[in-house]
Amino acid sequence: MTDPLRLYHDPLVLRHGTGAFHPERPERIAAVVSAVEAEGFILRRPPSPERTRGSISLVHDPAYVDRFREAASRGPAEADKPFTLFDSPDNPMSRSTFDAAERTVGLLLAAVDDVMGGAARRAFVVTRPPGHHARAAEAMGFCFFNAVAVAARDAQRQHGAGRVLVADFDVHHGNGTQETFWEDGSVAYLSVHRYPFYPGTGALDETGSGEGLGLTVNVPRGAGAGDEAYAGGFESALDGLLRRFRPDLVLVSAGFDAHRLDPLGGMGLSEEGFTRMTRALAAAADAHAFGRVVSVLEGGYAPRGLTEGALAHVRALAGTGEPTN
Ligand SMILES: [Zn+2]
Repeated sequence: MTDPLRLYHDPLVLRHGTGAFHPERPERIAAVVSAVEAEGFILRRPPSPERTRGSISLVHDPAYVDRFREAASRGPAEADKPFTLFDSPDNPMSRSTFDAAERTVGLLLAAVDDVMGGAARRAFVVTRPPGHHARAAEAMGFCFFNAVAVAARDAQRQHGAGRVLVADFDVHHGNGTQETFWEDGSVAYLSVHRYPFYPGTGALDETGSGEGLGLTVNVPRGAGAGDEAYAGGFESALDGLLRRFRPDLVLVSAGFDAHRLDPLGGMGLSEEGFTRMTRALAAAADAHAFGRVVSVLEGGYAPRGLTEGALAHVRALAGTGEPTN
């Protein structure tokens, strides 16, 4: 029996402290957890950390992993106390930050195991810190480990997934993910985002190179874009990509900071925009990947906007995708 949708979370990730005034704080996802639980969804816990550690090394340099672990061990024990800066002023941390980042990867790998193994059709991971800005050896933009990139590599190595699509609708471009798969002919990266904007990458002419040429697809949008420009552009680009790339698994960097209420994003999406993009991805997965979608939370900093966006996403994941042809 295959569950239509499974959700994953571990309260450990709430212990990653960023200080009292940072937008990426524990309260933002506590609200999402409450909302999905109120809808009757059950949240599952991750497996042992051993495989997680091995998989992280598929994307991140061992020296970076050691440096991060060591820096976190010197961080403050209390999540809301003054913090230690690591790599970037955007990346404050506490003593539990390494464990939270590692656990986030573990939750995503558990979701991939369940979806690739047939226990679940779709999965959504409610977690933090986010990951899509993290590079092989550098933390940036609130991100430490690039969980979605690790999950793509892990799905290929552990589950024999040949081609993986990573789709990203966070308002920021996922520079770390793009960089990881830039020359890779087996992992496509599709991103819609505000541009120009942090982190500066994601122009239309960034399309990959070598075997990966044409498999990086960027949909840059100006400030204030709404559902039609943002979600509509994403749908069109996805259609074009699927003509030359048939994924065996769809991974999603699901950020909700393009929501109209978000204090950082400056965009105009409603819940309908997130529903549209999620349905398009579910339909792509139904057409090519036995319905397999594994999604992980990235950004989203307005409490209500994040919760509404995430609920729209979860409901659209739980439904069947609309027919593609
Ligand atoms: Zn973001």
